[in-house]
Amino acid sequence: MGTKPQIIGRFAPSPTGHLHFGSLTTAVASYCHIKSLSKNSKWLVRIEDTDTQRCKAEFSESILQDLGNLGLHWDGEVVYQSQHTAMYEELLYHVFQDKVYACQCSRKDLQGYAIYPRYCLDKMLDWHNHKLRIQLPDETIEFNDGILGVQRQNPQKTLGDMVICRADDIFNYIFAVNPYYAWGRYFADDFRSNCHYGYAPHATN
Ligand SMILES: [Zn+2]
Repeated sequence: MGTKPQIIGRFAPSPTGHLHFGSLTTAVASYCHIKSLSKNSKWLVRIEDTDTQRCKAEFSESILQDLGNLGLHWDGEVVYQSQHTAMYEELLYHVFQDKVYACQCSRKDLQGYAIYPRYCLDKMLDWHNHKLRIQLPDETIEFNDGILGVQRQNPQKTLGDMVICRADDIFNYIFAVNPYYAWGRYFADDFRSNCHYGYAPHATN
């Protein structure tokens, strides 16, 4: 008999404001779900603060304080995504460089498209001053969602090539969460993966 993998869940708020009712509901549901699965399970908190224009340290502090006051005590250290930019750059330039391309399309150009139509795939645009997209595989992948069960999805047909880095060099949430998630091979064992399941229309912006 093999040992069971440890169950780890995460709550990953964006500190663009104080903890609001929607986030609080997600936090409580995530905490209760993960802690009910095993007495050794871990509930982690990761602050999604890659958007340095909208995220503020005071909101991170306020969110953590509220969680603590409500008895939602996280395990281990809080992870701040903004401190991992060097790792994302390494992945972008040395691991996924063949899958990444620059895109100059505006929202207006893409009006009416749920999936990005790859207008810029072969334009070989300069990576600087453009947003960057990652090519997702055109094949069915299978993953086990902790709540929905076994799911099958073709990332190219359901998500399309997602923007992973904005023109102002800010990494998008989807790449920062888990670069492998972005490529569509693996899906994070993450409560938010459930919340974001089927979010294709947002990924083309
Ligand atoms: Zn484009």
